[in-house]
Amino acid sequence: MRKNNREDDSLKPAPFAYRRARTTEEAVALLGEKDARLLAGGQSLIATLNMRLSSPALLIDINGVGGLGGTVHKNGKIEIGALVRHAQAERSELIVKYAPLIARALPHVGHAAIRNRGTLGGSIAFADPAAELPACLLALEGEVEATGPSGKRTIRAQDFFQGLFETALGSQDVLTAIRFPAATKDTRVGFAELARRHGDYAIVGLAACARADGKRLSDVRLAFFGVGATPVRARRAEAALAGGDVDAAVAALDLVPQDDVQATAKVKTHLAGVLLRRVAKQLMEERA
Ligand SMILES: Cc1cc2nc3c(=O)[nH]c(=O)nc-3n(C[C@H](O)[C@H](O)[C@H](O)COP(=O)(O)OP(=O)(O)OC[C@H]3O[C@@H](n4cnc5c(N)ncnc54)[C@H](O)[C@@H]3O)c2cc1C
Repeated sequence: MRKNNREDDSLKPAPFAYRRARTTEEAVALLGEKDARLLAGGQSLIATLNMRLSSPALLIDINGVGGLGGTVHKNGKIEIGALVRHAQAERSELIVKYAPLIARALPHVGHAAIRNRGTLGGSIAFADPAAELPACLLALEGEVEATGPSGKRTIRAQDFFQGLFETALGSQDVLTAIRFPAATKDTRVGFAELARRHGDYAIVGLAACARADGKRLSDVRLAFFGVGATPVRARRAEAALAGGDVDAAVAALDLVPQDDVQATAKVKTHLAGVLLRRVAKQLMEERA
């Protein structure tokens, strides 16, 4: 075990020990140690360490764990390994073809340098309420696969995001993959966000998918982000949009955002309506 044991303030992060896990099981076992945290792409975690917003005693580097870096299409589903980088996913033909919502959202995640290192598993596990990918997973009615001390389990996206940066993962769980239905020829997707600058976290965003049913939409799913502690489905608006009435869908929006550093609740509510109109147009006019 290597230890950064400088107790002075000459380094940005507080001292921590560092271990490299080779298997998921080893990572799970190491998570049993006091104050341990997984390190994936480091694009969120290292920033919080450097600002001393967190000071874990042990960092468990999972970048060398085998089997977490692939994307597969099987049984009508797309499964993306936790260690797939955002940039890799952007270049994946499978994702472009069968996960068009994710493909549309990815360019909005930070900047290219962040996407080169950041992982899809890290984005989902970190569960930032203004992040794009958790909302996509919710809109896709996807699921998360996790391994913990009792073995593997699957958690539905709707049960996974539980609060501000809070998920259904236990303290010894490793998120190993995300999974969701592969797009078919009837799938329609929509994505839009408003951010101060491209690459910033969104003030408000919307990830959506639906099924084209003749000239109508069915199975409409709208997942907003930046409007609450978790990504949120706007179910009344979904029903109105399935009825083909965009004005009614906007009127039915029942989001309850809070003021934050980016915007007031009133501004966010207004912007959510603007985004809904944009995304409704995408769903109605574009094929995935
Ligand atoms: C300037 C800047 C701008 C950014 N803008 C955006 C943005 O617009 N949208 C956005 O979504 N993100 C943004 N990010 C965050 C970026 O997307 C991160 O890469 C991502 O949130 C975390 O992925 P990571 O692999 O880097 O995880 P890490 O930083 O390594 O880890 C993040 C957290 O998740 C945990 N974790 C990681 N992997 C796993 C796993 N497999 N199982 C269980 N727990 C795990 C870690 O323990 C840690 O608590 C930005 C970051 C920066 C620095």
